[in-house]
Amino acid sequence: MANQGTLVVALTQRGRLLPSTYELLTCGRAIADAAKEPLAAVVLGAKASQFAPDLIARGAEKVFVVEHPALENFNDELHAKAVGGVVAKEGLARVLVPGSVAGKSLAARLSVALKAGLAADASQVHLNSSGLKAERGQYSGNIVSEVEFRSPVQIATVSPMAYPRAEAQAGRTGQTVAVPFEPGPARIEFVSYQPEESSEVDLTAAERIVSGGRGLGTAEGFKLIREFAQSIGAAVGASRAVVDSGWIAYRHQVGLTGKSVRPKLYVACGISGQIQHLAGMSSSGTIVAINTDAACPMMEIASISVVGDLNELIPLIVAEIKKRKGAPAAA
Ligand SMILES: Cc1cc2nc3c(=O)[nH]c(=O)nc-3n(C[C@H](O)[C@H](O)[C@H](O)COP(=O)(O)OP(=O)(O)OC[C@H]3O[C@@H](n4cnc5c(N)ncnc54)[C@H](O)[C@@H]3O)c2cc1C
Repeated sequence: MANQGTLVVALTQRGRLLPSTYELLTCGRAIADAAKEPLAAVVLGAKASQFAPDLIARGAEKVFVVEHPALENFNDELHAKAVGGVVAKEGLARVLVPGSVAGKSLAARLSVALKAGLAADASQVHLNSSGLKAERGQYSGNIVSEVEFRSPVQIATVSPMAYPRAEAQAGRTGQTVAVPFEPGPARIEFVSYQPEESSEVDLTAAERIVSGGRGLGTAEGFKLIREFAQSIGAAVGASRAVVDSGWIAYRHQVGLTGKSVRPKLYVACGISGQIQHLAGMSSSGTIVAINTDAACPMMEIASISVVGDLNELIPLIVAEIKKRKGAPAAA
């Protein structure tokens, strides 16, 4: 019998379900609906079963739970073995994997083990009359290639933020299946986990982001951006130009070779809006551009365009925010 069914791979880290899982559930739900098949998810971890109700509430009809202490920390070999076992046993056709570093490593191993076609970094994955298709941005996002599959099993890693997160729906029901797992020997060993030390709001989880670009003039300009961000509880983002100049750390970079973000509010200060930057933030809710150049690409996609010198405008905006919040404005 031909392989059928779509599987979302739900990865856990430090006892938490990765939020990218919810984005995969949105993508998987659309594919499963188009195929008129149920949507399945597989969740892996030391205490993975606790996540099954959430996965069902957000769109999965069936959740395979692979629970084992050996899966507490990501291990390419063991995770690939566990997911591959489920795909092979259930005869599944389509596998959606988070486009994170761990997810891409897992997908590559799965692809080899299952002799499955793999589309990495897909921005869209959909099903049409000729089968599964994945869209991938290439050449710095200047072209979009469409990938078709010829293998019975088809795998795609889906870029972060490519899809909105599936919301939990009350009253949804589904089936949970415990999958026995025997890790066996592995050539990869988890050594330790070193969390990033930062008190700043995480960029990928932020609902508001204030980003700075070369228009700041110098690294000192980020003082303004930080003050602005702090005044509205936002994370600090940046263009690659300023990261490459050493004005701010790479973890703040938004764009093709940085992070993909989808906040409700994105404020771009002194960022021209080259395609590689837009690739990481153009799905944001409201985009505010502050720029001296009224004709730059960022102004074209912005919901609100503010033409002017950021050095003059940002202190005025921050002072107004503080005034409205009732805090004393800086002299
Ligand atoms: C393979 C590849 C990958 C890339 N990946 C990324 C990526 O992930 N992210 C990314 O951002 N870029 C990326 N880039 C670089 C990208 O092409 C641009 O060079 C970069 O985004 C430009 O950054 P910027 O907008 O800060 O600088 P600029 O393009 O120099 O723009 C500065 C802007 O500031 C404005 N300005 C100047 N002074 C003021 C002022 N006083 N007040 C207000 N506005 C002012 C100017 O009008 C201008 O619009 C990539 C490029 C390549 C080739």
